[in-house]
Amino acid sequence: MYDVLIKGGRVIDPAQNLDGALDVAINGDRIAAVSRDISTQEGKQVIDAKGKIVTPGLIDIHVHCFDSVMKIALEPDVAGVKHAVTTVVDGGSAGEATFNVFPKYILPNAKTSVFCFLHLCSLGLIPEPELRGWEEVNLDGMAATIEANKTIIKGVKLRLVGKLVASAGIEVVKAAKKIAGQFGLPIMIHIGDIDKQVPASLTPECLNAMEAGDIVAHMYSGNQGGALRPDGTVLPELKAAMERSVILDPANGRSNFSFAVARKCLAEGILPTVIGTDLNHRCLKDRTYSLPVNMSRFMALGLDLNQVVAMTTINAARAIREEDRLGSLKPGMAADVSILELQSGAWTLIDTPGETIKIDQLLMPVTAIKSGEATQAEPVALPPRAN
Ligand SMILES: [Zn+2]
Repeated sequence: MYDVLIKGGRVIDPAQNLDGALDVAINGDRIAAVSRDISTQEGKQVIDAKGKIVTPGLIDIHVHCFDSVMKIALEPDVAGVKHAVTTVVDGGSAGEATFNVFPKYILPNAKTSVFCFLHLCSLGLIPEPELRGWEEVNLDGMAATIEANKTIIKGVKLRLVGKLVASAGIEVVKAAKKIAGQFGLPIMIHIGDIDKQVPASLTPECLNAMEAGDIVAHMYSGNQGGALRPDGTVLPELKAAMERSVILDPANGRSNFSFAVARKCLAEGILPTVIGTDLNHRCLKDRTYSLPVNMSRFMALGLDLNQVVAMTTINAARAIREEDRLGSLKPGMAADVSILELQSGAWTLIDTPGETIKIDQLLMPVTAIKSGEATQAEPVALPPRAN
């Protein structure tokens, strides 16, 4: 007898090379079995997933959920379980001076699991653009914060924007590398500067300094210091970074994604490793919407369903080093499952420069199962219908 039985869905679990009609059984907070035709008699609670897609719990590797502290931040469950996403990673909203709000007030109130990147700036993203000078960097304070929050903090965040980065350049990247390296953690680097303060030459220099496991956020940014050289060709350092197993994340948000740049990069084989949304209040109802919508966006750009599921499950779990627990439906893993429906129709997506495309398939969130407990999705935002 199982506590929960998810019956009749198309199970896609790239970590196990599974794609087929399978049932998923859960006991307590663990996956108990994935197999063909488990009898409904065997489930105390049976979830009918006929016609639906069943995946390991989706992981959004870049959101802003420093709720009630950072003005544009969302509640974790808006980025998370309401859109059938079971884990979100905050992309550096907090720094060492503000981080304690996460364990004390945000994590206990969220159904969705929350991990964080700790910003190099002590105040996190509050001063935006942050890092006005070295006085906003406190490596000892960061060390103490990471030490005290090892199960939550998954790396160090730095954006290549603002006064300090504009003047001190690669030295700021080195400071982030140093503190992250002290704890064996990756850095997450935001490329592209809408304020055009930071010289574009810093981006290739920074990409060259990044190592396997470090994360490039906004890989398809058309902003100054984004993915392109001034002549409009793709930075060769981006592909070189990908080949060294640096993790690439589109993290679209409102200001960081261009279809034209994405097409150029994809034509050169520069694919995302993971798909983050950079979801926040500014882009929730304008351009970004949710992780399933962004998975659909990349399907419209030529990736297949199995690829986008891999990017949002096992690849994301590896990026935050939780692959022993998350990102797959292997028996013994956490009972985090996402149920989605691939709908046909016509919707419009828009990028940062304003290019619109029409998509004909949309992944709709249906249910999030978090630690064995099901939550019906309530999509807060969806792209507009196209004619
Ligand atoms: Zn962000």
